[in-house]
Amino acid sequence: MHSISSAAVPAATPTTTVRTARDVAALGTVLGIWAHPDDEVYLSAGIMAAATEAGNRVVVVTATRGEHGTDDPVRWPPERLSAVRVGELAASLAALDGGRGRIEHRFLGESHGRRHVDGTLAATAPDGPVTELATIIEEIAPDTVLTFGPDGMTGHPDHRAVAAWTRQALRRTAAAPRLLQATCTVEWSREFGGLLPPMDGSPDTFPVTPAADLAVELRLDAATLGRKVAALAAQDSQTGALREALGARRYRRFVGTEAFRQDAGVRSAPRRGVGTRSRAGTAPLLPAPGGRSGPARPPHPGGRPCADLCVPACAAARRPA
Ligand SMILES: [Zn+2]
Repeated sequence: MHSISSAAVPAATPTTTVRTARDVAALGTVLGIWAHPDDEVYLSAGIMAAATEAGNRVVVVTATRGEHGTDDPVRWPPERLSAVRVGELAASLAALDGGRGRIEHRFLGESHGRRHVDGTLAATAPDGPVTELATIIEEIAPDTVLTFGPDGMTGHPDHRAVAAWTRQALRRTAAAPRLLQATCTVEWSREFGGLLPPMDGSPDTFPVTPAADLAVELRLDAATLGRKVAALAAQDSQTGALREALGARRYRRFVGTEAFRQDAGVRSAPRRGVGTRSRAGTAPLLPAPGGRSGPARPPHPGGRPCADLCVPACAAARRPA
């Protein structure tokens, strides 16, 4: 049962910014709550690797199997893509952990006999998934929850839904973990922000948080970055096109820093890079919320079922550095 509280999401005691793998140990038990396979590895692989090395428990919850993460559903029908992505996710977490099986994973809803569908989360009545998440949070009793902010990072409606569900779930439990939301550093935004059109056309995507306001600013050391790149490569259906588009060295910079802000008190930085991105001639790379119609997306290199966080590959491929 869940103790229902009308209180706001509890703000954990602020601590110093997590900057090194050693600092990550202070995050305690880490619960990552994400929408699709590959969200977790792009945004938190280094944290997960460092936490497991420190002996901390790490649990990843993924809301969907990413079965619609393609613009070629004939070649990649949902059943096929779901199977591919489930296998890729398991291989990715294994690669991140050196095959030791210390990163736990579950799909949201499976313990309740439910299966959430990629691309439908924003249209899903929240009570069911919020209850499912609250059950997991009470069971795991995390010290730290990692997820998206209300921006969904990319603006993906599924990401925004997961962020909202997570906050609601925390209100339903007695747990009071630190709620950390993925964000972008100023430096990262300067280099990559111009490549990243928001998926839903909203101006709050790819949020930039000043260094002083970051709860986590983890610049991965070479060994951890190598493990992250291997874990990303294990999800090749979603990540391969971006890796090819950026090139190996730039790709390592793209994924080499992980940044999170604490839930409350976020201040927006000037959206340099992001704010000056050129939108002219750039068709939306994902359909607007509520439909999959709209301008066709450009083909992805190699015919991969590329979508989601990998979508910037389109822009990167068309705008060489
Ligand atoms: Zn995603």
